[in-house]
Amino acid sequence: MLKIGSHVSMSGDDMYLGSIKEALSYHANALMIYTGAPQNTRRKNLEDMKIQEAITFMKENDLDFDNVVVHAPYIINLGNPDPERRAFAVSFLTEEVKRTAAMQVKQIVLHPGSAVGGDRRLATIWIAEGIKEVILNTKELDVKIALETMAGKGNEIGKTFEELKEIIDLVDEPSRVSVCFDTCHTHDAGYEIKDNFDEVIKHFDEVIGKSYISVFHVNDSKNPMGAAKDRHENFGFGYLGFDALIKVIYHPDFKDVPKILETPYVEGNPPYKEEIEMIKTMTFDPTMVEKLKQKNG
Ligand code: FE
Ligand code: FE
Ligand code: ZN
Repeated sequence: MLKIGSHVSMSGDDMYLGSIKEALSYHANALMIYTGAPQNTRRKNLEDMKIQEAITFMKENDLDFDNVVVHAPYIINLGNPDPERRAFAVSFLTEEVKRTAAMQVKQIVLHPGSAVGGDRRLATIWIAEGIKEVILNTKELDVKIALETMAGKGNEIGKTFEELKEIIDLVDEPSRVSVCFDTCHTHDAGYEIKDNFDEVIKHFDEVIGKSYISVFHVNDSKNPMGAAKDRHENFGFGYLGFDALIKVIYHPDFKDVPKILETPYVEGNPPYKEEIEMIKTMTFDPTMVEKLKQKNG
């Protein structure tokens, strides 16, 4: 069955319950949540997250927990050359994995990190060590850390499948690590998602193994292939285009893998209900962005 949704916020009084309601308002059956603002590490206490209410509500609405994903904030960097910052990243990520488990979610997406000083080899080793520590700190928990494929802007680690494979091998905990495949990022990193997705997946399978993919981010891109920019575009409105993204979403090898939209708001309006509708009907509406703009009158 198609598992499609978007990232949603977790804020205000309703917290996790609000995230589920937001997803349902888009007619989604999957979702991805930041446990707080992605740019900072301030987080609410577990008791204030409305977890039980959310779980009850999900059951009432037949929402499958396997279709829910958490995303770690992108400011934590396990590859930071400063050992204190690395230690902070490890302790914060440990708490995030615990929050994820408390929410009954089975995977947390992580940007592997960045080689701040430029030494990519060292950063890769630090990232793997950090992930190992987090896994050790959460031994009893059934949560996978899904390493995201990155666009390669700045000194990001994880631009190639080989780099992700290196981390996965160093961590050496296959049951606790997976991959989040972002179509915008891989396209920006230089992979032929638009014209040759099958070849890309064949290559991914040879390097890492396609069963490692536990979630897709199905974003279009504002930039041509290989631009290393990481700027998402609305579904079908960018360099990837509607047909290429639909092919990813309905690929027979990844039927049961959740697909998440992280496409941009249009002048303050979330595009997810409209994009999900286009995906479900496999029909592109070239006026979608214009219509969302007109909502503002
Ligand atoms: Fe991400
Ligand atoms: Fe992403
Ligand atoms: Zn991105």
